[in-house]
Amino acid sequence: MSELNTPDISVVVPVYNEEPNIDELCSRLVKVLETAKRSFEIIVVNDGSKDHSMQKLFEWYHRYPNYFRILEFNCNFGHHNAILAGFEHVRGDITITLDADLQNPPEEIPKLLEKMDEGYDYVGSYRLGKRQDVCWRCWASKFNNKIRARITDIQMSDQGCMFRAYRRSIIDAIVRCGDYTAFIPALAYKFSSRYTEVGMRHAPRFRGESKYGLYYLLRTHFDWMTGFSLVPLQLFTLFGFALSGFSFLLVLYILGRRLCIGPEAEGLFTLFAILFFMLSVVIVGIGLIGEYVGRTYQIIQKRPRYILKNIYQQSDDDVVLKR
Ligand code: UDP
Ligand code: MG
Repeated sequence: MSELNTPDISVVVPVYNEEPNIDELCSRLVKVLETAKRSFEIIVVNDGSKDHSMQKLFEWYHRYPNYFRILEFNCNFGHHNAILAGFEHVRGDITITLDADLQNPPEEIPKLLEKMDEGYDYVGSYRLGKRQDVCWRCWASKFNNKIRARITDIQMSDQGCMFRAYRRSIIDAIVRCGDYTAFIPALAYKFSSRYTEVGMRHAPRFRGESKYGLYYLLRTHFDWMTGFSLVPLQLFTLFGFALSGFSFLLVLYILGRRLCIGPEAEGLFTLFAILFFMLSVVIVGIGLIGEYVGRTYQIIQKRPRYILKNIYQQSDDDVVLKR
């Protein structure tokens, strides 16, 4: 590396219980980046791993102290917060994010760099061929992509793929915006002026299991829905207008019927069915408003998005090497 403080490329990797993947990840990353003939740093963010990921990372840090920097959280703050922490510490002009489980093969990094060299400030990726995840994840992801494209102005083919490259200006904007539940690919899209995508190979997880259950995916879905669009609320308002119009016509009809034919004796269960339907719509509406209110509440609280226990790196102006 020509100058430690200003590498050309910063690679940010979030790590949570990835002990069996770290050797393979680091050796492949170092190999690819060394052949790219640019200065680089690899920032690994240990997101409160409970296995021996940290020890493994130390081995790599001691072997290549000029390449590796480790940010250690004091407990688990989640994938996106780990990436945000990495963003707050990057020094390179180009930042690349990828997962630690080797589903994003590091050998594809040159494709991202090629596109960045063409002048784009944000390069996303989409997974080529069959996605190497369980079926329900693939379907949920397709569904999410479709809804997002309709209710937000964010147009990307594969929002779930974190294998991406960002110009420094985009990183700075994301760091400045201080969003509590940031959905990084979408935030970056908002701030970018030249976005493009490249197709990437997608491998099955090298070792271990995915950290994401159904609940986490639902949360992420709500995050970008409430963080990037007011359309769900507006749809509800529109639906409310349509429903009140329909109810008004129904009241007129029933009134007319009562005057002409007499009181209605049957139809009790139909009434219940309509009532239950209305009730469920109201409950969903309240939940939806709750999502927005909860999000605002979190932003107002201004709690730290993560807490750093330690930073391991070669001496720097602003950070003391703590080991
Ligand atoms: N990860 C993290 N914190 C978490 C969960 C995941 O830093 O709370 C990291 C994980 O180590 C991996 C990346 O985020 O590097 C993606 O996680 P995973 O492979 O489990 O997600 P999937 O590929 O199944 O979406
Ligand atoms: Mg994965």
